[in-house]
Amino acid sequence: MTRCHFLRLKTLNLRPQIGNMENLIPDLDVLDAAGVEQCEVKVSPDVNSGQSRKLYIESYGCQMNFSDSEIVASILAKEGYDTTSEAEQADLIFLNTCSIREKAEQTVRHRLKHINGFKKRKPGLLVGVLGCMAERLKTNLLEEEKIVDLVAGPDAYRDLPKLINQVDDGQKAVNTFLSREETYADISPVRLNSNGVTAFVSIMRGCDNMCSFCVVPFTRGRERSRDPHSIVAEAKALFEQGFREVTLLGQNVDSYKWSEVENNKARIEKLGVEKIINFANLLEMVAHVSPDLRIRFSTSHPKDITDEVLHTMAKYENICKYIHLPVQSGNSRVLELMNRGYTREWYLERVNRIKEILGDECGISSDMITGFCSETEEEHQDTLTLMDKVQYDFAYMFYYSERPGTLAAKKLKDDISLDVKKRRLQEIIDKQRILSHNRNKLDVGKVFKVLIEGPSKKSDHYLQGRTSTNKVAVFEALGKNKGEYVNVLITECTGGTLLGKIVA
Ligand code: SF4
Repeated sequence: MTRCHFLRLKTLNLRPQIGNMENLIPDLDVLDAAGVEQCEVKVSPDVNSGQSRKLYIESYGCQMNFSDSEIVASILAKEGYDTTSEAEQADLIFLNTCSIREKAEQTVRHRLKHINGFKKRKPGLLVGVLGCMAERLKTNLLEEEKIVDLVAGPDAYRDLPKLINQVDDGQKAVNTFLSREETYADISPVRLNSNGVTAFVSIMRGCDNMCSFCVVPFTRGRERSRDPHSIVAEAKALFEQGFREVTLLGQNVDSYKWSEVENNKARIEKLGVEKIINFANLLEMVAHVSPDLRIRFSTSHPKDITDEVLHTMAKYENICKYIHLPVQSGNSRVLELMNRGYTREWYLERVNRIKEILGDECGISSDMITGFCSETEEEHQDTLTLMDKVQYDFAYMFYYSERPGTLAAKKLKDDISLDVKKRRLQEIIDKQRILSHNRNKLDVGKVFKVLIEGPSKKSDHYLQGRTSTNKVAVFEALGKNKGEYVNVLITECTGGTLLGKIVA
């Protein structure tokens, strides 16, 4: 992932690391394993298929949001919109927003002020706010940001054509209804910012977990799983288009559950049997699409990940040996305050099972929050010692930022000073930097199957791709192209990258 320090990025044709809270990549006061503050914004690409109107979408935050923007682009393509990468060229500007941290929302508000300049020059320009910030603030957003014409929450995107018409008729338009059923299963996303090799496939929406620090259950609603047949059909279509990797996305993939009875009464009447499909079953179904289609997934929840999932991963070579398993804290009392549903011991037992079933090479990454309400120095030390025990390959690290409406905001005191939060954050970053480098050093001298994703960032003579364990490998091109699998002997490494050469 491109790193930046308080910079906004256009990440065209880059495949981001899958970060999370969970699956959430907040934009500013987050530091990566290298200790650099990171942020990510994706901008719609230029597509000129001769449609009469131009849509510009800027997407903030997490992979789910980027995936939703692809659904929005698909819905609006049918309404006569091509996408553009230039906001100035657009007839319609959407900001698909993130609410995970205060700064993510501030970024959007600053952006709206900038867009106001375009609107003054082009009065017919329609400006909409989508996603979590829209859901959290609802009609307040229209009052607070006069430039905004339209507000639509994550479950209201089918309604966008109607909302746009409403604005065209001179009214403001809002739909922040949260659905218990909507999964957009039948909508074929328009791939925005795609490298043509890797794609994201949403398998569920919402979250029922109510972690005390998290705003997601309030902005994305109740958990619901998507029809597995539509997921497999999307994976097949992607493979036929030349894609070679899909990442199955959900806030908590381990609680994926699709029941013929609950989810599709018509089909059960036809089949006459009830079949419940869990996440392990779904993984297996997608693994069968083709042995040349790699499968990743995010995000796993430590309280829900089962041995059945781990055994399914072990059984299929094309299911990548990498698990993003956010711990958040290494201390059981803090985990209880966070309402995470597991203890330090439970988490470490799950990690041991991963290592037993998938081997020590399986990549494991995490999210961690420092300075959560009432966290003591000893409890912070527990996070550091847990990191040593797990030996993470990568981590997204944050200091705690209270969000309005969450359980923690209502019941707990945000009583750790910013200085202490930041100092603790720096300590876990320093630890992770060492761990990441050590884990990469273990790969030197070994050969890995790498899926080529495109040229390396520094030179067209070099290519880059990923190992099954989700590490970036860079190597001389030798006539190979993106979308091909190659065997790469790792000869050296940095903390973030493996360097090597193609071997037979
Ligand atoms: S409530 Fe917990 S499990 Fe659900 S998205 Fe938030 S952090 Fe993840």
